[in-house]
Amino acid sequence: MPSETRSTCPYCGVGCGVIIESDGAQITGVRGDPEHPANFGRLCSKGSTLHLTAAAPITRHDRLLHPMLRARRGDALQRTDWDTALDTTARQFARVIRAHGPDAVGFYVSGQLLTEDYYVFNKLAKGLVGTNNIDTNSRLCMSSAVAGYKLTLGADAPPCSYEDVEQADCLFIVGSNAAWAHPVLFRRIEQAKAMRPDMKIIVCDPRRTDTAGLADLFLPIQPGTDVMLFHGLLHIMLWEGWTQPDWIARHTSGFDALKARVRECTPEAVAQACGIPAADLLTAARWFATSPSTLSLYCQGLNQSASGTAKNAALINLHLATAQIGRAGCGPFSLTGQPNAMGGREVGGLANLLSAHRDLANPQHRAEVAALWGVPSVPDKPGRTAVEMFQAAADGEIRALWIACTNPAQSMPDQATVRRALERAEFVVLQEAFATTATADFADLLLPATSWGEKDGTVTNSERRISRVRPAVPAPGQARHDWAIAVDVARRLERLLPSRAGAVPSLFPYASPESVWLEHRESTRGRDLDITGLGYALLDRRPEQWPMPEGAAAGRARLYEDGVFPTADGRARFADVAWQPLAEPRESRYPFSLTTGRLRDQWHGMSRTGTLGRLFGHVPEPSVQMHPQDMARTGLGEGDLVHLTSRRGSIVVPVQASDELGLGQAFMGMHWGGEFLGGVSSTGHRLAGVNAITTSAFCPSSKQPELKHAAVKIMKA
Ligand code: SF4
Repeated sequence: MPSETRSTCPYCGVGCGVIIESDGAQITGVRGDPEHPANFGRLCSKGSTLHLTAAAPITRHDRLLHPMLRARRGDALQRTDWDTALDTTARQFARVIRAHGPDAVGFYVSGQLLTEDYYVFNKLAKGLVGTNNIDTNSRLCMSSAVAGYKLTLGADAPPCSYEDVEQADCLFIVGSNAAWAHPVLFRRIEQAKAMRPDMKIIVCDPRRTDTAGLADLFLPIQPGTDVMLFHGLLHIMLWEGWTQPDWIARHTSGFDALKARVRECTPEAVAQACGIPAADLLTAARWFATSPSTLSLYCQGLNQSASGTAKNAALINLHLATAQIGRAGCGPFSLTGQPNAMGGREVGGLANLLSAHRDLANPQHRAEVAALWGVPSVPDKPGRTAVEMFQAAADGEIRALWIACTNPAQSMPDQATVRRALERAEFVVLQEAFATTATADFADLLLPATSWGEKDGTVTNSERRISRVRPAVPAPGQARHDWAIAVDVARRLERLLPSRAGAVPSLFPYASPESVWLEHRESTRGRDLDITGLGYALLDRRPEQWPMPEGAAAGRARLYEDGVFPTADGRARFADVAWQPLAEPRESRYPFSLTTGRLRDQWHGMSRTGTLGRLFGHVPEPSVQMHPQDMARTGLGEGDLVHLTSRRGSIVVPVQASDELGLGQAFMGMHWGGEFLGGVSSTGHRLAGVNAITTSAFCPSSKQPELKHAAVKIMKA
């Protein structure tokens, strides 16, 4: 019987509403939801083909439909039953915890989990097991944005809405190829520009991307010079009298120290460091500061950096100095890479956070969460973040890993270390919808999870809007929901580790995703993201932005309109951050700067989009792009196979000329795993993809790795 179900696209942080068409157990079509305020019916190439990639299990061979267990390392995976799989997981984790303590286990989860899934995993790790070793692939995506907001504005809360795009007089798009990474939002930007051609668009990126094609002013800065650029813009604003001293005096602190720092960032010095004309700096500063409203849109170009927090904070400094915040059409607006990186942050599903934007380092916050959960305490020792977690496993300190809904054997930087970690860990359980990801090669146990079109819960997009995700078809095979799998193991662990269980019969009494969500909702009461005025019934009618406390008629589109910030004194804080050089600068042995990034029609490790031929029409095969002059200088021709080599590893790919890049730069899509590069390693595993090359050097504050830059050499193969 044909039916239609409202849900949300599972790909990027735009969070488009979709209507799923289904017939029995088969998803037959998808179209944009015309009533969803994130997209008003639009979908991009990925979203509009969701039904074709979700044709499992009828036409796809790679869905994981049953639990699979290896009798021993090196043996083939064999089908097993759920009780054996759950008992094995609980027994192995309990064994390691009893022998080596709770910090000998780690949970690595995903920004593609729903908020309810995330909540249960976080409570399982921190509440029951007693470790903060839970981190997520959102660490690779948004943690610098989190740290930047908290450092300056006092809370991890993007203050803007998509509707600000239509109201801005100046858009400053920096470190974001929105045309490919957030296509539906970019259509909105294009439309706004067409309606109001006077709107100024500045795009700042080392690559002349499709997004840069819309720019009135393009700033092709050298990789890693963003902080220098932002300080240089502030220097000009101060010199020209374009800052807002009265607003600064009323609503901020710390400006004098920053003023002293940027004094030496003269236009000439900054232009030289960034590799752009000084006149363009002046134009950018004028447009940013003197436009009635300026909105910054930014993403991984700032976040995926060993100085990611400083980059985020230095950009927010500009908004504070010019009072471009708290009004329609202005503010610093970080774009979220994954569909629910925001939801994960809301439940505190990171190694340094706690529920409802509480801080692990704050004793009162730990006590509040312990009381909410009914456990004696939440451990105070910071957990291992993504890179640290795999390093600890490679060093033998973390002995059991539970990985859910992510593929670290492809997506983490420095694959040699990650793969050493997966081989050394005594027990690796992978909870996944797909049986064929690179990480599955290393898992002792596979737990089949439901996927888009089958799941039930909520996600939060970049503009703080919570949307419902609804099931259109039943779970295929024996797949179960992620939250339910975590609950089933947690209840077994409560029996195996009674000293860690709470006073109540179970810390995990949930019977539905809504029952999980209601507990999460209660945890937000009185917090900056208070959603006590929301419920599934209301969200079923319309998505809403947080905060929406009890009694509120609607969520809030814009934050800080009253000029009061969630800091101890109510003032925003200027961040006196220093420019730092790249973690791995170019040098004579590794003379090229490699940047990785999204392609328009692919998603992450391609486990979904890589199954559909039409999505390869845009970019059909892996390649590394170089400037034509660099190719000529090094004797390379179009399509030549090259060794692309960093200090950590090497891959062989064809080379392609691109004048979108500056001299000395190279670019490769982030999606290409080893299966697209061919061959197997000496240990029999698939080769690592592009992340064999990238570095795990990370920002000391956010712990986000510098995926956007590695020094490489490129030699004919
Ligand atoms: Fe999905 Fe993002 Fe495309 Fe919207 S823009 S349809 S959320 S991938």
